[in-house]
Amino acid sequence: MINEIFLNLLKQQNIDLLLNEPMSKHTTFHIGGNADCFCELKDSRSLKNIILICKEYSVPYFIIGLGSNLLVSDNGIRGLVIKLSGEFNSITLLDDNTIRCGAGVSLAGLCVFARKMSLSGLEFAWGIPGSVGGAVYMNAGAYNGEIKNVVTSVRYIDNQGNKKSYPKDELDFSYRHSVFTDTDNIITDVTFKLVPKPQEIIIDRMQELMNRRKAKQPINHPSAGSIFKRPGENIYAAALIEECGLKGFSIGGAEVSTKHSGFIVNDHNATAQDVKKLIKHIQDVVFEQKGIKLCCEVKFVG
Ligand SMILES: Cc1cc2nc3c(=O)[nH]c(=O)nc-3n(C[C@H](O)[C@H](O)[C@H](O)COP(=O)(O)OP(=O)(O)OC[C@H]3O[C@@H](n4cnc5c(N)ncnc54)[C@H](O)[C@@H]3O)c2cc1C
Repeated sequence: MINEIFLNLLKQQNIDLLLNEPMSKHTTFHIGGNADCFCELKDSRSLKNIILICKEYSVPYFIIGLGSNLLVSDNGIRGLVIKLSGEFNSITLLDDNTIRCGAGVSLAGLCVFARKMSLSGLEFAWGIPGSVGGAVYMNAGAYNGEIKNVVTSVRYIDNQGNKKSYPKDELDFSYRHSVFTDTDNIITDVTFKLVPKPQEIIIDRMQELMNRRKAKQPINHPSAGSIFKRPGENIYAAALIEECGLKGFSIGGAEVSTKHSGFIVNDHNATAQDVKKLIKHIQDVVFEQKGIKLCCEVKFVG
């Protein structure tokens, strides 16, 4: 329970603690009510201490990356939301083709680093607006690339505050899933093995994929990317939604993007409730007309 003693213990950890923090500020959807408490943690020691304090006071915690795959409830999040910064934002070249990267680093930052080192393998991730931790949790992927193809090990802190690691073959990666899915283990850093390649080739590929993204996706509108998972090999949620005549359909401020039917955009001050209603409507119509059940890729929180 969050009480004075709990809050004082957090403050003693010398962290910046925000109370009633609007989650709309921390999600790419720009939607979400207040988190009871929000903090950025800069090192593993404070992370461990905070987890143990939460455990002792039975306060739930939630780790957020860059909030690009989240729909946070209008009622916000009970408990503590943790964001990684400081040492979790560092990137190191371990040898000629191996990078160790903190979980708080943006995929964009990691891609730029790899490009600078003339290391190839992460080009597919250029344009995915998440963090390295979120990308591993989700096994993010695009344009025939997936995080699982380049990760060799992941270090994390479990819900008892213990530092642990998984080698590649224990990461249980599959489509938008990893061993971390639906656990409260916190990824702290990730090791990537890449392939040396001339920088111009890497730059060209990154540019090509970014152009494709810009042409196809409503990247200038608040969203959480693709709302639904692909329902099967070579079956695309966007195509089904469009065939059902739902392109541009809206509920409240939430709209099926007119540029990419797999995206719901926050068109004007959408609430999480608007988005949820729209998701349900899409699922019902697609099931009625196509007999296919669409499952969400976006994570509901709070
Ligand atoms: C415009 C747009 C385009 C997108 N394109 C793509 C795409 O092409 N491919 C794709 O796969 N996704 C895409 N996405 C979705 C999203 O960017 C990815 O899912 C990304 O990996 C989420 O990372 P995040 O840091 O934002 O995670 P968040 O959204 O903050 O969190 C997602 C989940 O990861 C968990 N998590 C985050 N950090 C950690 C950590 N350190 N330890 C443990 N768990 C953690 C959270 O608890 C949550 O359950 C897109 C989104 C947008 C808005």
